[in-house]
Amino acid sequence: MIDKNGVMEAARFMAEHDRFLVLSHVNPDGDATGSALAVALMLEQLGKSYIVANEGETPEKFSFLPRFDRLRDLAREPLEETFEAVIAVDCADRSRMGQVAPYFAPQAAVLNIDHHPTNDLFGTINLIRTDAAATAEILFELAEAAGIAFTQELALCIYTGLLTDTGGFRYSNTSPRVLEIASKLLSFGVSPGEVAERCLEEITYAHVKILRRALQTLTLSHDGQIASITVVPEDFAEAGAEREDAGGLVNYCRNIEGVEVGISFVEAEKGIVKVSMRARDRVDVSAIAKELGGGGHAKAAGCTMRGEMSAVQEQVFRTVERALGSEQQ
Ligand code: 5GP
Ligand code: MN
Repeated sequence: MIDKNGVMEAARFMAEHDRFLVLSHVNPDGDATGSALAVALMLEQLGKSYIVANEGETPEKFSFLPRFDRLRDLAREPLEETFEAVIAVDCADRSRMGQVAPYFAPQAAVLNIDHHPTNDLFGTINLIRTDAAATAEILFELAEAAGIAFTQELALCIYTGLLTDTGGFRYSNTSPRVLEIASKLLSFGVSPGEVAERCLEEITYAHVKILRRALQTLTLSHDGQIASITVVPEDFAEAGAEREDAGGLVNYCRNIEGVEVGISFVEAEKGIVKVSMRARDRVDVSAIAKELGGGGHAKAAGCTMRGEMSAVQEQVFRTVERALGSEQQ
């Protein structure tokens, strides 16, 4: 059940302050972007002013979302202002927001809204629901509790978070509540086919080109229980691809029959390796990711590691193999 107190406390936070900085995580996905823009729309309804920002660019595929053009890339366009009130969505810890500390006033109050089990409660107020499929699901409850009207725009932002974090209502986090909320959101005017087309179906040609190269590196190990793929800067150059074109590669690994853990190693910039892990049943990859400096969920987690690709891979494999080994005993 929803923690009414947490939701009411969050609603009060939004009512009490006048100006907000709304942040999500670096390399934002559909839940991060949909949730940040949902908060922006809620603040508008409450008559508040805000800056919605991210360190780095938000993928163009989410440009169909309302207020997408208000999303400010702090890496390109730093702010002069500091904020007394910050709302962080879908961030398990402060480092997920990137280099944002300069924008926090010394006594800044932070509302942390998230669904990751690895969340370290960094906020002044923490609205954390690890049973929620997406941060957007928590925002639905918050909007309801705060008496905010579900406009078509707000419904679209929340639906996008729900759709993407459940992999199109397929992953095991697709609860009865998720489908109940999705059903309500459709009744507020969301077109499910259009959102799915933009978020899940349509891919860039650069993605296909990088996928073609990535699949050539596909390797099975540990008795076929681990599958991994590797993408290096040269692949990005050859494919004419950007970092956002390399999303979703890890699923090809995890989906192979018999594989327990799928891993993608994506090095868009020399010496910085984004590691994504997906588990089938036996291993909790959030624990592995946390050990490696990242976090996430039991079945989907990640981290960013610095160093030579071979050294990163050795460390990740060692940790994953240990988790698989201890499971077997
Ligand atoms: P992905 O592999 O698709 O980037 O992320 C899978 C899940 O792990 C998401 O829930 C994402 O938020 C989380 N995750 C990915 N990378 C990191 C990281 O570096 N730190 C933390 N705390 N979580 C991460
Ligand atoms: Mn999420």
